[in-house]
Amino acid sequence: MGINEKAAYIKGLIEGLELDKNDKTVKVLNAIVDLLGEITSSVSDLEESYDDLCEQVDEIDEDLASLEEDYYEEVEQDDLSEENENFYEVTCPNCGETTYMDENTLLAGSISCPNCGEELEFDYSDINDDDEDEDETYDSDDDNE
Ligand SMILES: [Zn+2]
Repeated sequence: MGINEKAAYIKGLIEGLELDKNDKTVKVLNAIVDLLGEITSSVSDLEESYDDLCEQVDEIDEDLASLEEDYYEEVEQDDLSEENENFYEVTCPNCGETTYMDENTLLAGSISCPNCGEELEFDYSDINDDDEDEDETYDSDDDNE
């Protein structure tokens, strides 16, 4: 039995008693039963709205999940293309200008400083120091205690 039916049942029981409606105690009792009916119908409405809301949230959740799927697929592809272009900070020893070289440029050998034209040589041990978190295989000469 739902709460609406229970409230109606109680109201029916009280009506069945055929109480004197002018009696002050009966007035209080009837007022309480009326209020009970209003509360139960309010709660039922809320439950219905809540169920509707849950359904809508589920739909939004599904929509969002499929959007996320599409989005992260794209981002993953972007990440992959960016992964081939790791940029390293290179400071020119001649002019002190800092430029950013991608990995392929570094691995291709020497390049000229874009600022002064000085031939730049790369010390790859510096790169390892900069990337300690990513590269666990660097020589641990400094770590001996
Ligand atoms: Zn330079």
